Amino acid sequence: MAKTGKNKPAQMCSFCGRYASDERPIVQGPEDVCICGECIEICSRIVSEQTAAPKSTFEPEKLPTPREIKEYLDQYVIGQDDAKRFLAVAVHNHYKRLIHFQNDSPDVELDKSNVLLIGPTGSGKTLLAKTLARELEVPFAICDATTVTEAGYVGEDVENFVLKLLQSADYDVEKAQRGIVYIDEIDKVGKTSANVSITRDVSGEGVQQSLLKMLEGTVVNVPPQGGRKHPEQSYIQVDTSQILFICGGTFVGLEDIVRRRLGKKAIGFGAEDSNQSSDRNLERAEIMKQVASEDIIHYGIIPELVGRLPLIASLENLDKKTLVNIMTKPKNAIVRQYVKLFEMEDTKLEFTDGALEELAERALKRDTGARALRGVVEELMIDIMYRLPDEKKEGGVLKIDKNVVDGTKDLFGSRKKKAPVSEKNKKVS
Ligand code: ADP
Repeated sequence: MAKTGKNKPAQMCSFCGRYASDERPIVQGPEDVCICGECIEICSRIVSEQTAAPKSTFEPEKLPTPREIKEYLDQYVIGQDDAKRFLAVAVHNHYKRLIHFQNDSPDVELDKSNVLLIGPTGSGKTLLAKTLARELEVPFAICDATTVTEAGYVGEDVENFVLKLLQSADYDVEKAQRGIVYIDEIDKVGKTSANVSITRDVSGEGVQQSLLKMLEGTVVNVPPQGGRKHPEQSYIQVDTSQILFICGGTFVGLEDIVRRRLGKKAIGFGAEDSNQSSDRNLERAEIMKQVASEDIIHYGIIPELVGRLPLIASLENLDKKTLVNIMTKPKNAIVRQYVKLFEMEDTKLEFTDGALEELAERALKRDTGARALRGVVEELMIDIMYRLPDEKKEGGVLKIDKNVVDGTKDLFGSRKKKAPVSEKNKKVS
């Protein structure tokens, strides 16, 4: 028997037979029975495996109402009330359907209400989806339809969307099967889309067919490592019938399709001239509110796929006032973030209304919605932040006004020689 330094016999683990050491502490029980830390861990694993629940069930602590979901979205996304309401109802019903589906023999089958979000670049489609993901109790994945290809072409399989969801559910298949997938750029797989690529699928229809199968509900074989499938691989099977899909796209040119349809109807009523002129006066937002499934089909999405997207919500173009609100109002608004950063330098940062409007105008000229805001604000702030630690006054206040934004005034006192930056050549794609 091993001895300790003081000639006392070292304790031995009754399970693995190894002696106690500094790395191997031992717990003694009654009648000299001992167990080492390693054996405790193994026992604990065995017990938890044997007692694990056979099936993870969905039990939301409290079913969030559509109003609660919208109020949560309001904290991060400015405007776009229609889209928020549609999403809130779709997600609320998704939760209900999951609870209903858990009944062994549901009396009524509840259909999914997948959502289609239509809106210009930078209007908040992805942001809405991401914000939902943060709040929801279900796994969530954001995917891009343009990465999908028909079998035989270069690119990904739709299975990889489900893989993303599986990863967000820590490979818990039950959990992934009740998740939500956001598919961006769905308009780019339209048959008539100008973006058709020869490496993908000549008509785009093959891709739409594979998306359709997934939206309708099928058992997908997901390669655990991603990439393209090959015969020797082992797959994880995921049933997509309870997964909620939210699709998003810009649908450039759809407005004209809707306009034409509305115009045609007016002709039918024999009021051609007056209706055509009133059509012209309708705002884009008003037109887009009237988007119908037939317009999306006309755009090049196959009718079966459109049929699987019964809720269509259009997002509005963001105007100057909304852009100012986006810079200041959300919990993580860019201006709030800078104010916090400057606080850490013992400096109070303020933006005047004029400065915010000037920044919003610059962003508008870039034609990428709110996406341009970060770039515009960062361009302004980079020089200020570079100089701040050396030129700040203790407990000072830095007020950014319109002149600071257009470059005619120096925030730290000295006059700038630099001419105002022209926005003409700054459009970003
Ligand atoms: P898209 O509609 O092209 O998916 P995004 O949702 O990706 O646009 O928007 C890009 C960025 O612009 C977001 O990360 C967010 O910072 C900002 N943004 C866009 N729309 C809004 C909005 N309605 N409210 C607040 N921020 C917005």
